[in-house]
Amino acid sequence: MTTVSENIPKNYGTLVFSENSMKERIPAKTYELLEKTIKEGKPLDLDVANAVAKAMKDWAIELGATHHTHWFQPLSGMTSEKHDSFLSPTEDGNALMTFSGKELIQGESDASSFPSGGLRASFEARGYTAWDPTSFAFIKDEVLCIPTAFCSYTGEALDKKTPLLRSMKALEEQAKRVLKLFGESETPVTAMVGSEQEYFLISEKDFERRQDLVLTGRTLFGAAPCKGQELEEHYFGAIRPTVNEFMKELDDELWALGIPAKTKHNEVAPAQHELAPIYTNVNRAIDENLLTMEKMRLLASHYGLVCLQHEKPFRGINGSGKHNNWSISAGKTNLLDPGATPMDNLRFLVFLTGVIQAVDEYQDLLRMSVASAGNDHRLGSDEAPPAIISIFLGTELGGVVDALIADTDYTNAKAVAMDLGVAVLPRFRKDNTDRNRTSPFAFTGNKFEFRMPGSGVNLSDTNTVLNTAMAKSLKEFADTLDGKSGEAFEKAALDYVKKTLTDHERIIFDGNGYGEEWETEAARRGLSHYRTTADALPCFIEQKSIDLFEEFNVLNELEIRSRYEVKLEKYNKLLNIECRVMKRMTRRAFLPAINTYAGKLAKSINAIKEALPDAELAQETTLLNNLVKGVQSADEALQKLDTLHREIAGIVDQQEKANRYAHEALPAMEELRAAIDALEIITDRSHWPVPTYNNLLFYS
Ligand code: ADP
Ligand code: MG
Repeated sequence: MTTVSENIPKNYGTLVFSENSMKERIPAKTYELLEKTIKEGKPLDLDVANAVAKAMKDWAIELGATHHTHWFQPLSGMTSEKHDSFLSPTEDGNALMTFSGKELIQGESDASSFPSGGLRASFEARGYTAWDPTSFAFIKDEVLCIPTAFCSYTGEALDKKTPLLRSMKALEEQAKRVLKLFGESETPVTAMVGSEQEYFLISEKDFERRQDLVLTGRTLFGAAPCKGQELEEHYFGAIRPTVNEFMKELDDELWALGIPAKTKHNEVAPAQHELAPIYTNVNRAIDENLLTMEKMRLLASHYGLVCLQHEKPFRGINGSGKHNNWSISAGKTNLLDPGATPMDNLRFLVFLTGVIQAVDEYQDLLRMSVASAGNDHRLGSDEAPPAIISIFLGTELGGVVDALIADTDYTNAKAVAMDLGVAVLPRFRKDNTDRNRTSPFAFTGNKFEFRMPGSGVNLSDTNTVLNTAMAKSLKEFADTLDGKSGEAFEKAALDYVKKTLTDHERIIFDGNGYGEEWETEAARRGLSHYRTTADALPCFIEQKSIDLFEEFNVLNELEIRSRYEVKLEKYNKLLNIECRVMKRMTRRAFLPAINTYAGKLAKSINAIKEALPDAELAQETTLLNNLVKGVQSADEALQKLDTLHREIAGIVDQQEKANRYAHEALPAMEELRAAIDALEIITDRSHWPVPTYNNLLFYS
């Protein structure tokens, strides 16, 4: 008998049409042509597409698939699919299972219901999906899913994947130019990403009774539970049996899809968990992350649970993020690894400097890329990084960079193992220990960890910005050093590094990112600080960002403007829903419940008075008084929010609308919440109409 563990390698990747399955099933000559498309971006001819489609279909049918779909990522951020069956009836009344190269390469999509920020209106009503052969097809619920890009007929991107692929190309082109200057042979260069996905699991029964959770993904009301996360018992704690069963099934399903889920554990907050896969190229990493999120949501229901992927489902309890671990690989070499020889060190310093320059220069865009209504509650509330971008390098690397800027001898940096050989370059060890969890962008040995993204986000935007900004840094280096070689190159490269680091030193910060001192210091350094999505979005359409994206053919101005519109609209729509849900819950659930309880209390006070005219009723009457006064303040807060909400709803300009939601509606929502939460803790438990934080977070 084989054990469960023995079956894991056997089942791994069985539901993906991976490189191996392709090699097995496609004639060698055809595969070679396909590989050219995958690795070099060469256009695919129809004969090859037909052969691949046939192999893919046969493989999928053997595994029970009945349908196929072009799987894509519309601007709303998650994934979309429309299933077509393989079935094609024949004239004689029978049926064949067919799938052509044309169907594989391109799909028509009536995309009019997807957000496009007005893009389609100005061009064509329809869009099409195009096969992305660099991410593998897979089977999900008897459907062959083909990862695709989604564009308008005039070529404008209508999705998240297209600009990401373009940014990968830009990064590769510029990195290759730099590597050539280092005399290195041509290898494919790609950004690598490992994303750590945090999420909550709560009971389905409780979830269903909370309109705020069902409709907005977060609790809009709720007094703090008696116990929060202060005992620190949940982080890495024993996993409850139901959750463990859920995680096991999740692992099995992900492994079958070839998604290398590696680490799972309980997180800091009660009912919070994390899953991290092994990193891979950024395009696949994002497809895999989206698929993982979908599987989490789906499988939770098998265990009577609901998976919350909102960035801040509970006030006062840590929210959920999605750390974006990012590096650049050239073949087998990680270009963000300090390396072993002085020359490797120099190359590393050039790439490191490129990252520092990119992050400083385009800090606004990076912040913008993670802006969402949900993430606004998480950034800057002392659980996740602040909304200010800065880079943490750690003591060792920080010492080297300081020495380079000060133009002093590296021997001054104590921890640095010296190598005074060629070009007087430092040799340093990787620094894995010194972790500053408060930093938004931390160097962790051989990669950067961007900790701002929220749990619900599609990481494409962030990585599109990172890749493009990095391409820009590398281009500047390559342009400057063009034509130099040997010692002259080494000297010029080191000078370039020193100068660029000096120019961008302000972005490096190793101190405590929480707290007000940093806010003041960051302002002094001229770093931007956008607290809300409404404040963070406008930089997207500034000339500086249009110039960047256009220079590298990642997004044109029209695409940028449409994306900005979509983000704004999404924010406004969410805030509108949150306002409505708050008003509805207050009017229809909370106030009636509190009034019923107050009425009962009044009756019982009168009854006691009748029976015992001299009875001391101070506690009861004070409580009744507080309930009545509380209802009064809640109603005032409700009226205030209502007036404001109606006013904002009437505003046509989307940016103005967002500003008002962020700076006026949200504080008014806070007031209403505070009034209701204060009543929650004095109202008889049996009268409270929704499950409380105690129920939601500490279920068994
Ligand atoms: P943490 O302590 O934050 O959990 P880990 O070392 O476990 O960090 O790594 C977290 C994620 O980073 C994983 O998904 C891992 O695969 C990924 N990762 C590791 N090395 C790299 C790299 N060179 N480039 C990109 N991601 C990486
Ligand atoms: Mg991490």
